[in-house]
Amino acid sequence: MRAYTKITPSILAALQAIVGQKYVWTEADKLIPFEKDEGVEPAYFRRPEAVVVPASADEIAAIMKLANAAHFAVIPRGAGTGLEFGAVANEYGGIIVSTERLNRIIEINEDKLYMTVEPGVITADIQRAAKARGLLYGGDPCSGDSCFIGGNAATNAGGNRAVKYGTTRDQIYSLEVVTPTGDIAHFGGRLKKVTAGYPLQSIIIGSEGTLGIITKLTLKLVPLPKYGADILAVFPTLETALSLVTALPKAEIAVTCLECMDNAVIRVVAAYLDEALPYADEGHYMIIHLDGKCEDEVDEACVALDEICQAQGALEVFVADAEKVWKARKAFTEASAAECPIAAMEDFVVPPDELKTLLDRLIQIGSTTGVLFRGVSHAGDGNLHLDVLRRGFSADEEAAKIDAFEDQACAVVYALGGRISGEHGIGQKRKRLFAKYTDPTAYALMKAVKKAFDPNMVLNPGKLFE
Ligand SMILES: Cc1cc2nc3c(=O)[nH]c(=O)nc-3n(C[C@H](O)[C@H](O)[C@H](O)COP(=O)(O)OP(=O)(O)OC[C@H]3O[C@@H](n4cnc5c(N)ncnc54)[C@H](O)[C@@H]3O)c2cc1C
Repeated sequence: MRAYTKITPSILAALQAIVGQKYVWTEADKLIPFEKDEGVEPAYFRRPEAVVVPASADEIAAIMKLANAAHFAVIPRGAGTGLEFGAVANEYGGIIVSTERLNRIIEINEDKLYMTVEPGVITADIQRAAKARGLLYGGDPCSGDSCFIGGNAATNAGGNRAVKYGTTRDQIYSLEVVTPTGDIAHFGGRLKKVTAGYPLQSIIIGSEGTLGIITKLTLKLVPLPKYGADILAVFPTLETALSLVTALPKAEIAVTCLECMDNAVIRVVAAYLDEALPYADEGHYMIIHLDGKCEDEVDEACVALDEICQAQGALEVFVADAEKVWKARKAFTEASAAECPIAAMEDFVVPPDELKTLLDRLIQIGSTTGVLFRGVSHAGDGNLHLDVLRRGFSADEEAAKIDAFEDQACAVVYALGGRISGEHGIGQKRKRLFAKYTDPTAYALMKAVKKAFDPNMVLNPGKLFE
């Protein structure tokens, strides 16, 4: 592979000519926040050579043309809340292109139910803007208060409401994208159906900034459900709790959220928040949200849900204090980090009906490899987040222990029909296992797609693939 050019004074001058001197940063204090994202592994922390902050798609296109001519790496970045170091520099060096100045909500169309935005808008601001018009934006990652919508599209972010509304891919009509070679392209459309060539917007979504820089998004909106209920069902075992995952669809109860916290996590969270959580000594939680357009519809669903939970052996089913229960769920990572430093984070996804089998197997693998973890799941969509604790092994043993655990865990995940990541992505961290476990033909085709979009390999090199 051709070596990447270092960012020279003449490249900096050319970048300044594109975006203005004020928006090309090379000072250490300005670069430090860009050395990492929210991932926990210091081995991936790296300072970019410069950060460039453009204000338009035209400026980004000019940056990409310069990168191809001079052959330096360009790393797109949203809010930097990713967990896989996809928006962080690596051995190829280069510049970070921050999308923070592309932060306008361009249009909200209440009649036609869409919103057009730039990539640097914070997701929660999109949710609030829709809500103010009596509408709902369905995307809801737990990092919504800080992540950007462009980052959500680039990672195909999921979240708590994905059971009903789907992931970010399901919220997007169309995209404006600067291609790696510096063209401005438009993919997708505000269409209910289309069979007109490959759906390129779907390839960009989830491509983690390797196939293009998203500069505009048209998002779907739906009428805001007027009524909702948060239910906490407490079960005596994890198995009975997870039985809801298959029991609910069979009973045609469409829930918006179905989140599982096992007893070990409940105890850790209760200690961290210093709050008394119900049945913290023995219970396993399923946190359920239901919504609908009329009160009767939600009430009926709650009654049916209660019957099913009782039939599956629930200890108790409450109408939950929504603020308290969701605060407990969202405190998971902070609580496990307070218990013990986190060595690695996993984001496995399997068919929801295989979640229980996966958990059983991971507990076995944890005990044979000497790895302890805490886990919560977006149970309704089969997505399991694990925080692997830095406990029970020395610093020298850590890398080998984690590798052994992840390798064996991945073998089980793929055997169950799952994948290495449900929503966080591959980034830099999961490249080895992604290469090892992905179908070889699929893997080769993905690399060919990358090469077709980015013949000079200047956009986010070393992410997804070696
Ligand atoms: C506390 C916490 C909770 C979280 N909860 C969830 C959750 O519920 N669901 C979930 O899916 N994730 C979750 N995440 C992970 C993270 O917030 C998401 O992946 C989010 O979508 C990243 O958005 P960002 O703007 O921070 O992107 P960044 O971290 O800046 O970038 C992520 C990736 O997207 C690329 N990228 C960013 N912007 C663009 C663009 N405009 N064009 C092209 N590529 C781009 C980057 O190159 C990088 O590869 C959580 C993270 C934290 C810390």
